[in-house]
Amino acid sequence: MRRLLTALLASTALLGGAADAQIKAKKPEAPPAVSKADKAAHDKYLTLDTHLDTPTHFARPGWNITDRHEVEHDFSQVDLPRMNEGGLDGGFFVIYTGQGDLTAAGYEYARNYALRRAIEIREMLAGTKTGFELALTSDDARRINKAGKKFAFVSMENSWPLGEDLTLLTTFHREGLRMAGPVHFRNNQLADSSTDPKGKIWNGYSPLGLRWLAEANRLGIVIDVSHASDDVVDQSVALSKVPIIASHSGPKAVYDHPRNLDDARIADNDGDQPIDAAIEEGGPAARFSTLPVKAIVAALIEAGLPASVSLTAGSFVCNHVAYLVGGAVERNPGLRGGFIHVPATPDLVPPGSSVPTMTLDELERGIRLAIMTAVRTTTDARVPGGSIH
Ligand SMILES: [Zn+2]
Repeated sequence: MRRLLTALLASTALLGGAADAQIKAKKPEAPPAVSKADKAAHDKYLTLDTHLDTPTHFARPGWNITDRHEVEHDFSQVDLPRMNEGGLDGGFFVIYTGQGDLTAAGYEYARNYALRRAIEIREMLAGTKTGFELALTSDDARRINKAGKKFAFVSMENSWPLGEDLTLLTTFHREGLRMAGPVHFRNNQLADSSTDPKGKIWNGYSPLGLRWLAEANRLGIVIDVSHASDDVVDQSVALSKVPIIASHSGPKAVYDHPRNLDDARIADNDGDQPIDAAIEEGGPAARFSTLPVKAIVAALIEAGLPASVSLTAGSFVCNHVAYLVGGAVERNPGLRGGFIHVPATPDLVPPGSSVPTMTLDELERGIRLAIMTAVRTTTDARVPGGSIH
């Protein structure tokens, strides 16, 4: 594997997994050109995005959805000016909670966290009277759109915050909740996740999860199977009295992305080009980073270094290294590991190239800061950081 990319420089010692920090280069990508005909066709439709992670920004001091932001600066993807520009009429604003402990304390933390997020969504709506309005039905969406405003549905990604108290679903329904997914990256009290490295524990829904599904049906909350295991998807289809949704999923046949796999687009200098080869025979499908990647990203941005959370380490060299680091961490209690992508330095790209770069000084500063943050932070920041699901 001599074609080790320069991007790996300095990063392999520290670093892998299903959530990585990514030190991003500074050049924002130019938006692709849209023809007038395409724009006109798009404008004719009522458009919605079924998964808007934006509520994570609502409580940030000084962050306002009516202002324009840049994803490169604060990794926010949606605000009113950009919705207008992109022709997005509304969508589901998500109450997302990253999976934690299935204990009384864990449930209490998650419940409070999710309730606060629900309130923040309502506060955003109340604070931008001319911009957005809460939608509870599809008729609402049409009416709000006609009135020149953006419609905002509320959804829940990961129903861990409900704990074992399904009456909370009514509480959230009263706050506007109209779509909910049972589970996120890891199995919880309700259902199996599609990505828990420990594999399934419930073979689909748990007994409580089955009651959750029935209660969501009864209240009129759409079941969202994104992040859920295949068994959960099958059981949802079989048991739900109304259609379900995968609000942000991709078909496996088009983009299958197990982590325990080497798949090289080009051969390396030794002519080695593995295709769909297991990195570790019998190894788990995925291994997760144990670094506080979100705290690292926040520290990098604070220091003026563009960075974001990445959910993929590529399909060959980076993923291979990331996966093996994860294995080393598993075998050595107390060790922590993760993966950081870094951009090339300017001298490595041809003059005039549009490939984004970062100086060696900046890279060194970024990696030092990432290490220091990892050393100082034992519990990662509880903020969603994903940009591509
Ligand atoms: Zn997601």
